[in-house]
Amino acid sequence: MHPDIEKLIELQELEIRIRRAAARIEQLPREMAAMEEQLVATRSLLDSQEAALGRIAAERRQLEGEIQIVEEKISKYRSQLSEVKTNEQYKALLHEIDFHGERISKMEDEILVNMEKEEGLREARLLLEQQLQKESARVDREKQVAQNEIEEIRIELDGRRREADALIALVTPEVYETYRKIAAVRKGVALAGAGENCRGCHVRVRPSVLGQVMGGKQIVHCDSCDRFLYWAPDSAT
Ligand SMILES: [Zn+2]
Repeated sequence: MHPDIEKLIELQELEIRIRRAAARIEQLPREMAAMEEQLVATRSLLDSQEAALGRIAAERRQLEGEIQIVEEKISKYRSQLSEVKTNEQYKALLHEIDFHGERISKMEDEILVNMEKEEGLREARLLLEQQLQKESARVDREKQVAQNEIEEIRIELDGRRREADALIALVTPEVYETYRKIAAVRKGVALAGAGENCRGCHVRVRPSVLGQVMGGKQIVHCDSCDRFLYWAPDSAT
């Protein structure tokens, strides 16, 4: 094989790995942000439950306050019972006492309903708190894993970039320049194996061209996609 082609094949593999690693490094912070967003969603759900609990507690306190006021009224009426002069007044007072007694029992029913709701909300909040705890522990772990992965990839990238630079220095400058140009328009793949067809564009390679590729003495390009060709018989892959 032509020595430049040999090095370029190695370079191309390195560059493909470098691109993948760089893409992974870009991807990881986005994954971490997505994990954080999930936590934010759970936290805001917890906040709204907290607010609902607050409203219910305030409602109950208000009802309890009203009950107290009505109870005071009733005991005032009761004390007046002994002071009334007529049967009519007596009846009227009893009527008031009944009326306010009913109001109290209605409010007490409301308080019971209210307390049930509150209990349900407290249970849901507890579950949500546990969920949040679990989620945030998991997110912390996953972020740590991602962080470690980023560090590892950075080290790997440094090494591969140095390897790539060392290879580039060994390739004939004009050949390397052509490699860059083709790579730029062929998504980073400037070399293709050739058997009967070019593996880059799948177009049949003319026998005379294939002969040159097999000879390995010259640098040969695909007639169709212009990639550098190297001998890679179909059965070998
Ligand atoms: Zn081709």
